[in-house]
Amino acid sequence: MAAKKQRTLGIIGGMSWESTESYYRLINEGIKAELGSLHSADLLIHSVDFAPIGELQAQGAWDEMGAILAHSGKRLQAAGAQGLLIATNTMHKVVDDVQAATNLPIIHIADATAKAIQAQGLTKIALLGTQFTMTQDFYKQRLIDAGLQVLIPENDARAEVHRIIYDELCQGQFLDSSRQYYSQVIKDLANKGAEGVILGCTEIGLLIQQADSPIVVFDTTAIHAAAAVDFLLSH
Ligand code: GLU
Repeated sequence: MAAKKQRTLGIIGGMSWESTESYYRLINEGIKAELGSLHSADLLIHSVDFAPIGELQAQGAWDEMGAILAHSGKRLQAAGAQGLLIATNTMHKVVDDVQAATNLPIIHIADATAKAIQAQGLTKIALLGTQFTMTQDFYKQRLIDAGLQVLIPENDARAEVHRIIYDELCQGQFLDSSRQYYSQVIKDLANKGAEGVILGCTEIGLLIQQADSPIVVFDTTAIHAAAAVDFLLSH
């Protein structure tokens, strides 16, 4: 029997590579689950150097970052990508720049996540991620537009959640003390009425599992990877 043909997906990764590695494994596992035997995903990955991006984020130089990711998207398109995935929540702030440069379908991480939450019938949801993701409209508003009520941690907790992402998770450090900290932040948000929590940074799933949370966990990396598998198999 002829193998089912896949589309080719381009991944803009490296932000950080720790989570791009998770994407690579999850998408390949998803394709194997669907197609079996020796099947693996038809992927192109452009993995950027994250250090300059991290500096530009701190400076708020989003136009410059938009240009970097647009260039990455163009390179993937030239290599044959039929769709794109930006393997980070935060960098969806510049999704429009990538879209304008390539005109390829882009699998939006917040839309895929909102769909997964709606499928479970939840409406009040906690959001953990970088300061950019937790506080800015490019991400939160998308969830609100999908009919969700979004709860975020208080100031101090937001700063610590953000610090742990850059100082530890994006550098491959997964400490018990940070796991306990995140767990407590989730409990506090659950006490405020959150029915579920979005792990809205692609490295948090490497630290926090369902067992660490009293409410249902939505791991954006896993959800985004599942949407990527759907894209690869849909014609
Ligand atoms: N991977 C993280 C995210 O999903 C943070 C790193 C970045 O700023 O891209 O937001």
